[in-house]
Amino acid sequence: MSGEATPRAQVDPGALERAFGDRARCNACGVEVERYRVIALFLHDLAAVRAYCGGCYEAACDGVYHARGDGMLIDYHGFASRFGAPGPPPPPASRVDRMLGALLRDARLRRLAPPSEALARRARCIPYRFASEWLIGDRKSDAELVLRPDGAVERLAGDPAACAAVRAALGLPG
Ligand SMILES: [Zn+2]
Repeated sequence: MSGEATPRAQVDPGALERAFGDRARCNACGVEVERYRVIALFLHDLAAVRAYCGGCYEAACDGVYHARGDGMLIDYHGFASRFGAPGPPPPPASRVDRMLGALLRDARLRRLAPPSEALARRARCIPYRFASEWLIGDRKSDAELVLRPDGAVERLAGDPAACAAVRAALGLPG
């Protein structure tokens, strides 16, 4: 192999662990802590970087995305220039990951499980089932979205406010 082989992952863990400065608010429990951990979730070309306290970190690693604290959404190139390349540039996002990315971009989303097609595949359940929690006004609201691998919506069920939020984020007809 020449020296021009596929670049290896070169994330600087130190830079990532300080992504939010000296203190950060945990995305799962909402408490602000000094010693926080950071999880970067990749949906092809979109990275969701989120802080967690020590107590919530393990659960968050298990494939549940929380958005109650400090976090940022950046594209692959933004991530690579700030934290180091996580691997070779990714292929264009799948339909399902583009849809999940649209949910992550909605500031009202509080929780998504699983948060990526790769993690949904691990559950070995087709069609994929995504549980989401939303904060609409000051009220929590849940919806379950069931997607086929081609991105077709098989089912959307739950609280009307949460279902409306999912439809709006995905541009689905009401
Ligand atoms: Zn926590």
